[in-house]
Amino acid sequence: MSNEAANCLFCKIRDGEIPGTIVFRDERCVAFKDIAPRAPMHTLIIPTEHIGLAKDLGHAEAGYRVVLNCNADAGQTVFHVHAHLLAGRVMGWPPG
Ligand code: AMP
Ligand code: ZN
Repeated sequence: MSNEAANCLFCKIRDGEIPGTIVFRDERCVAFKDIAPRAPMHTLIIPTEHIGLAKDLGHAEAGYRVVLNCNADAGQTVFHVHAHLLAGRVMGWPPG
């Protein structure tokens, strides 16, 4: 286990080392309620394994964006939930 994972709050919630309200768990992901919800329903969904994907791909320092498109107005075309990891260029805000 990396030092980063050893000190990770969410890994500790996943492992029951600190309390959390877990609403879903399988071998791939864990979902639990945010401690300071910003909406009536605010759930955090994490991969079970602590991964540093952008870091591993060499894009963490410069910056990257993770996007989930949800339904038609957001431009989703494939309706199996998926995250886009975008890096390697400067990005504008708001996204088009
Ligand atoms: P971010 O700032 O995008 O990394 O989001 C971190 C989220 O974790 C925030 O929405 C926090 O409210 C939430 N959070 C922090 N500590 C806890 C905790 N002990 N249990 C559940 N959620 C937490
Ligand atoms: Zn972690």
